Amino acid sequence: ILTISGLHKSFGKVEVLKGIDLTMQQGDVVSLIGSSGSGKTTLLRCVNLLEDFEQGSIELAGQSIGYKQDGGQRRRLSEREIARQRAMTGMAFQQFNLFPHMTAIRNVMLGLIKTKKMPKDEARAIAEKWLERVGMGQRRDHYPGQLSGGQQQRVAIARAIAMNPQIMLFDEVTSALDPELVAEVLAVVRDLANEGMTMLLVTHEMRFARDVSSKVVFMHQGRIHEEGTPEQIFGAPKTERLQGFLANSE
Ligand code: ATP
Repeated sequence: ILTISGLHKSFGKVEVLKGIDLTMQQGDVVSLIGSSGSGKTTLLRCVNLLEDFEQGSIELAGQSIGYKQDGGQRRRLSEREIARQRAMTGMAFQQFNLFPHMTAIRNVMLGLIKTKKMPKDEARAIAEKWLERVGMGQRRDHYPGQLSGGQQQRVAIARAIAMNPQIMLFDEVTSALDPELVAEVLAVVRDLANEGMTMLLVTHEMRFARDVSSKVVFMHQGRIHEEGTPEQIFGAPKTERLQGFLANSE
């Protein structure tokens, strides 16, 4: 469903992604691990076009993301096309970014009404279903300020998934949370993974990555340094660098 080939990305003179190749099938759960600055977040942001990239290609569900070849020239798609493609992905961030003046259910309904042009009743039914799924059905009329960080994050996840994306992107969704709230969010992500949702996630939670992933990708300095099944990556890391990283992240 996702094919990333030869992806390069720089910020100014600094090359942050130095040729990434990654493929995912429908239902795959791929975790990106690696030390701070290795390019994990940037890679995720390229997939949903929050970042431009200079070289390489990303294909999602048969579409070339962000750019097209036009008579040998690489051309950026129109903003309108890019907005449409961005809607193929759902993203959850460290910071939940809920609208503070809207209740949980309104937050989830908003994109369905504005972007998907859905009638209110239909949007409400879908929002209720997803809030229920993330265990927030009882609190759907609460404002973000009345919810814990973990609860807000679950609403933010419901909001992204309600849009029915082809792939969900999770960027360190638990790192802004107090330790006692991490488990409830990870449980939601794990349930979604078990239900067959295609997911690409950046995480510092190694035990979680081990449990939930079909594939784990270890990044170092803008490259994929080692990849494999959770058993291979955590049970039998091949490179010294990965061994060192894992030893430090116990
Ligand atoms: P972390 O685990 O800390 O989030 P990461 O592996 O996700 O790290 P990235 O956030 O992708 O790493 O950052 C990779 C490199 O790109 C870093 O050196 C960072 O300083 C740089 N970088 C990221 N965003 C920008 C930006 N908008 N402008 C300039 N440099 C950036």
